[in-house]
Amino acid sequence: MSLKLINIGELVTYNSEKKSMVILKDIEIAIENGKISDIGTLVGDCDEILDCKKKLITPGYIDSHTHPVFVNSRYNDFFDRLSGLTYKNIQEKGGGIISSIKDVRKASYKKLIRCVKDRMDRFINMGTTTVECKTGYGLSLESELKSLDVLDKVNSIHEIDIIATFMGAHAIPPEYTNNRSDYVKIICDDMIPSVKKQGIAIFNDVFCEEGYFSIEESRKIMLTAKLHGLFNRIHADEFNDFGGGELAAETHAISADHLMNISEKNIEKMVDNGVIGTLLPGTTFSLGINNYAPYKKMKEMGLEIALATDYNPGSCNIKSMSFIISLACIFLGMNPLDAIKAATYTSAKSLLIDKVTGSIEVGKNSDIVVWDFDSHIKIPFMVTNHPIKHIIKSGKLLN
Ligand SMILES: [Zn+2]
Repeated sequence: MSLKLINIGELVTYNSEKKSMVILKDIEIAIENGKISDIGTLVGDCDEILDCKKKLITPGYIDSHTHPVFVNSRYNDFFDRLSGLTYKNIQEKGGGIISSIKDVRKASYKKLIRCVKDRMDRFINMGTTTVECKTGYGLSLESELKSLDVLDKVNSIHEIDIIATFMGAHAIPPEYTNNRSDYVKIICDDMIPSVKKQGIAIFNDVFCEEGYFSIEESRKIMLTAKLHGLFNRIHADEFNDFGGGELAAETHAISADHLMNISEKNIEKMVDNGVIGTLLPGTTFSLGINNYAPYKKMKEMGLEIALATDYNPGSCNIKSMSFIISLACIFLGMNPLDAIKAATYTSAKSLLIDKVTGSIEVGKNSDIVVWDFDSHIKIPFMVTNHPIKHIIKSGKLLN
């Protein structure tokens, strides 16, 4: 099966040869067996033709940071926060991450599949064709493996591509509050080897923040994961300059995420060690705080930047990468082309899939969005309204 996209108004993508974003006009794309086979002013004949009616074409978004394996959204926590309660107050009321953990442990495999699949329907309808999904609401060997099984199943039945991340180090589960070193030992001695044996997760992630996992605990978990062949990501320097970015550099993690309070010295260490900085402005926005990550400083220092939603049941309910681009332009000071690169190519790079997707180039998967508007500048401008005409995933026209 081959498909030809004609009458493209504006094609915006990263270009590996030029090592920069490009804007191409009056161009056609040929797709064969799910891959992009030609890009040019006039490509050869194909079985089907899609008239793009002078609209904007971009790669499908790559959302490289989400937590979708949960049962219920914690909108009550949101309401409590609006009423002035702190995270600690909310936890004392039985809310917070602990309530998500109880639900996931109780939920059947079937129920979790339904929950995650419904969420993936929403992601792909907003133009995301690959999504990184973390576990981390089970926090026991059994429920973490169950969460990974759920991701594997949804990946096999859904058009969207899921990259799975094991996040046993999301929080200390309640039964280990007074015995945290035992839980770290379980992660290292039981969970990571079992996760590797199960063969679904590619990445390991650690919540390295004050009150969660210390630098020493995070280091131990990350080095164990690395030893077992998992690549590392890390939640770093969100609440204060805790040293997570520095640890990412030391352990050669692929990505350090959040980074709202990272110091200049530690940005430099990340740059020197090729760690990608994944910025999540949707969380800052949803929490109603103002300390967005120091993007301009990061760019000036040469840090590679990815953008993602941080979709999760508590602090960020955003699934739209277009809205994230809008926030990145308005609050981080990104320019639209840099933001689109961060939401496609660099996100793909942070998931080690940039050779197969994340840009519209010959040989790559045809993961493409045909927008119902004509210019990439309208993505940040339109804030919450981003009509889509067609989504093409691995050569298949979805709508
Ligand atoms: Zn997160």
